[in-house]
Amino acid sequence: MRFFMPTELLDGENCVGKYSEKFSALGKKALIVTGKKSARENGSFEDVTTALDKQGIAWTEFAEVEENPSVETVMKGRDAAIQSEADFIVGIGGGSPLDAAKAIALMAAHPDAGADSLYGGDLDSEALPMAAVPTTCGTGSEATGVAVLTRHELKTKGSIPYRIFPKVAFIDGKYLVDAPMSLILSTAVDALAHIIESYFMLKADDYSRMAALHGLKVWTRSKPVLLGERYINAQDRKNLMCASTLAGMAIAQTGTSIPHALSYPLTYDLGIPHGKAVGYFLGGFLEAAPDEGKWELLSTGGFRNLSEFKGFLKKLLGEVAVTEEALNRGYEMVKDDPKRMECSIFQVGHEGLRKIVYEHN
Ligand code: NAP
Ligand code: ZN
Repeated sequence: MRFFMPTELLDGENCVGKYSEKFSALGKKALIVTGKKSARENGSFEDVTTALDKQGIAWTEFAEVEENPSVETVMKGRDAAIQSEADFIVGIGGGSPLDAAKAIALMAAHPDAGADSLYGGDLDSEALPMAAVPTTCGTGSEATGVAVLTRHELKTKGSIPYRIFPKVAFIDGKYLVDAPMSLILSTAVDALAHIIESYFMLKADDYSRMAALHGLKVWTRSKPVLLGERYINAQDRKNLMCASTLAGMAIAQTGTSIPHALSYPLTYDLGIPHGKAVGYFLGGFLEAAPDEGKWELLSTGGFRNLSEFKGFLKKLLGEVAVTEEALNRGYEMVKDDPKRMECSIFQVGHEGLRKIVYEHN
């Protein structure tokens, strides 16, 4: 068994300010990578720049990361890092800016490499040091080495074949204060999918399941909020962030499975947010799973049976406006891909996959 998660996790209110000296260990000049707006609105950008100023660290920003970031954006970010002579990267935001920041950190350490190298696998994994400040409660990117980018030439998304873990992550639920409930729901379902998919991966072991199952326990505490039965409070925000990071620690060991693979055309073709797209296939995936693991997950999550779980998921996701074409494209992409079809402890075969895609959601 092997558990590798080399990121220092600092969790707590105002942790960016409290531990500002952590930035000094990363370098002298930072490039801050964010999405277009939210980091400036939820206080995370201000916290980071205040901390950098306090430490006497120069910084510039690259605030151009779109949702589901593209290879092209990463290459622009790399140019910004080189131009500003940054020696470390700070990613702030949801999974999109965090993943882009990782890929920028990689490419900035290989200034002569072309965009092809991002998926070519011809680089070593050397990258500028990076800090992560998550502001959504879903991807766990702060605790994984994974960066998922959009590949327009293939009309889909995929992880780059390098592992770039942040050196340090600052996890503060306060950044969720003004997040719309739709974002909290969608990203919370993404974390749940990481937990469930990771549990059944061939690479899963007692260590990764420790992270997955404890993540599920923490996640479950906020079920009433996700169901709209009570208002969200500071403890819920902390719990949802923590669960997302624990789920990230689990997938950092195991990778993800069929629901993630099927989700990419839904996001690429139809713009359905990542968590919602993954969640669409999650009930069917759990239905296909072996009983023993299924029951451990359902009972840990406080569900009496599979149909209660499916009903819960439906309520959280609301309507998911899929099309036959996007479902077909996912099915065709996954059905003969051994990386996806043979990565779990159970095999669904073509017929089982068909049920997950078309019937069991
Ligand atoms: P996201 O794409 O990073 O952000 C979605 C939207 O939420 C953006 O409009 C963003 O605005 C906004 N936003 C972010 N934080 C906010 C806050 N605190 N308050 C209000 N609005 C906020 O969403 P995500 O679901 O976190 O990330 C999805 C990406 O992560 C996908 O590309 C997915 O494939 C990837 N992913 C990565 C991993 C991994 O291990 N690395 C795992 C799963 C998924 P701005 O654009 O203005 O910031
Ligand atoms: Zn995900």
